[in-house]
Amino acid sequence: MIKVDKLPEVFIKAMPVLQILEDAGFEAYFVGGSVRDLLLDRHVHDVDITTSAYPEEVKELFEKSIDTGIKHGTVTVLYGGESYEITTFRTESGYQDFRRPDHVTFVQNLDEDLKRRDFTINALAMDLHGQIVDLFNGIEDLKNHIIRAVGDPEKRFHEDALRMMRAVRFTSQLKFNLEEKTGQAIKDNHELLKKISVERIRDEFVKMGLGPHSRQAFQIFLDTQLSEDVPDFAGKKELLQIYPRLQFSPTLETSLWSLIIILLKLPNEEISRFMRDWKNSNAMTEQVGRIIKFFDLISDYTPNDYELFQAGERTIINTIDVAHILGQPVASEALVDRYMALPIKKPAELAIDGRFLIKHGMRPGAQLGHTLNQIRELVVSSRLENSPDAIEKYLENLD
Ligand code: ATP
Ligand code: MG
Repeated sequence: MIKVDKLPEVFIKAMPVLQILEDAGFEAYFVGGSVRDLLLDRHVHDVDITTSAYPEEVKELFEKSIDTGIKHGTVTVLYGGESYEITTFRTESGYQDFRRPDHVTFVQNLDEDLKRRDFTINALAMDLHGQIVDLFNGIEDLKNHIIRAVGDPEKRFHEDALRMMRAVRFTSQLKFNLEEKTGQAIKDNHELLKKISVERIRDEFVKMGLGPHSRQAFQIFLDTQLSEDVPDFAGKKELLQIYPRLQFSPTLETSLWSLIIILLKLPNEEISRFMRDWKNSNAMTEQVGRIIKFFDLISDYTPNDYELFQAGERTIINTIDVAHILGQPVASEALVDRYMALPIKKPAELAIDGRFLIKHGMRPGAQLGHTLNQIRELVVSSRLENSPDAIEKYLENLD
């Protein structure tokens, strides 16, 4: 029994929601990740609620609600300035395509709902009074740091192949190990991952990559052969094998992708395609491209002031992070100090612009752009003062 008065704020705030459901004669529980993280003393960011009430019944009890996934039994309720996902007890069946269930069936007891969940540590529920429901010895597995599928792992991975990636992701985030049969079932069925959409695989991959046991989890990802069934990794085990031996685990998503690209030795012209294969956003692709470019540059020689300016603060810091994780020595402090000492750090900080040049007799066009770049470069490298007067004199001497 958990002492309810000692619960973290997120639970306390949500208690009236459970109370309202109970008062109306329904069962209601906190469930899944929040209960797991509570027992592990990990930070709980949000709580999921499961109930015997049907979605329509949930909606009647609360003033404000959103039909998030009403077909699957999920209603989002707004209460006390927070939002809560409340899902009706349900089972799933079908899974003909190894992905989503063909249909969900609402059920009247919690046990059935817990059985459909992926791992024993995620199949825990807690009621308003701090009473924990633990049908599959999830608490024992939490103590022993074990990820174990609920029921027959083979069957569960056939139902939903994403669970194999989730298993490995949780080993990274929680610093746990795979239970033997669960691990064996992943090895035996890794190819099923091909049925899963790249977006869903990517989300799990990134969570795995940014967990504290990223490098250990990556070894499992390679050993189970899951790595053969994700974009662009097939046949690249030898290169990827360096990942588990990195100096540190990445904490930034940009660092994770940059490291992978460096380890895969992807030529520059293949970076965009690689990032697109993984369904990454354009913003992520662009930033990673900048990091790789600057990484290549600082691996070859010490950048000049204008190259530092062109890279920009974020790329410099991200690239230093990548080099650090790779155990590659770079004069990181010197680079940052030099960047900080630049006369201007952004193009907009230049004392003049194109209009100024036109006023001084230049015609719009390529030559103007060229002159502007030249002025910017001189200012950045402290060879020309960043003031309209100084720049005007420079222009006069040009003619
Ligand atoms: P996180 O802290 O990353 O949110 P989580 O355990 O809450 O971790 P969610 O993806 O938010 O993960 O899922 C909430 C709960 O739903 C899980 O704890 C688990 O009980 C169940 N669940 C999620 N995905 C699956 C799945 N693919 N198969 C079975 N159960 C699942
Ligand atoms: Mg969650």
